[in-house]
Amino acid sequence: MISENLNTVREKIQSACKKAGRDPGQVTLVAVSKTKPVSALREAYEAGARDFGENKVQELMDKMPQLPGDIRWHMIGHLQRNKVKYIVGKVALIHSVDSLRLAEEISRESVRQGVCTDILIEVNMAGEESKFGVTPEEAPKLVEEAAALPGIHIKGLMTIAPYTDISEKNRLYFERMRELSVDIIGKNIDNVSMNVLSMGMTGDYAVAVEEGATCVRVGTGIFGERDYAAQTPQPAKLGARKGMVSE
Ligand SMILES: *Cc1c(COP(=O)(O)O)cnc(C)c1O
Repeated sequence: MISENLNTVREKIQSACKKAGRDPGQVTLVAVSKTKPVSALREAYEAGARDFGENKVQELMDKMPQLPGDIRWHMIGHLQRNKVKYIVGKVALIHSVDSLRLAEEISRESVRQGVCTDILIEVNMAGEESKFGVTPEEAPKLVEEAAALPGIHIKGLMTIAPYTDISEKNRLYFERMRELSVDIIGKNIDNVSMNVLSMGMTGDYAVAVEEGATCVRVGTGIFGERDYAAQTPQPAKLGARKGMVSE
């Protein structure tokens, strides 16, 4: 099942690329495995998945040693500063940097370990109350300030678009995020590249790819619905969509 789902998602990415005249090799599919058992991740790995996304530090740390070492782990959930030390040096990319204080903590820990950590700046493109991320207006300033820190490298931007059954409704946000990345490139800030646009989830990844996503984060479309009832309740930001928040 997981391997069929993966193939379907890959095919949809390919056709979205074709439609937009893009090279499918420019799009990384991150398999979002939060709440799913290691056996499910292993199945996806067997089917060729090498990029996995998790939104909680604890879960990430539990799963990592149980799976092959060539997996690129993506931290996609809200990250608390006191947990940064656990993931620096272990994850390939932190998608969810939304404050200078968090960037500073990642910088400090990276320098301490003698590594360079790749990060994305999370932008709340639709201005939703329930979501983390800086506003599009604040993003260039955060990029500029974070870029000056040692031990981190800003690779691009990440957004979580509103939940909708009509993916076309999110096209505007994806388009605006690409424009924002172009604006930021235009500022010629040292130590900043905008090669990564992490946008698009199960409901809207095809539209995101058409609008320039280089990284799509797909969970349900690969692993099926998540069962949160089976999990310990986590403190969530009020009104947030299930699973979108918490570290
Ligand atoms: C859970 C999650 C996803 C995947 O969501 P699906 O709708 O299941 O594809 C993507 N990005 C983030 C940040 C998430 O928390």
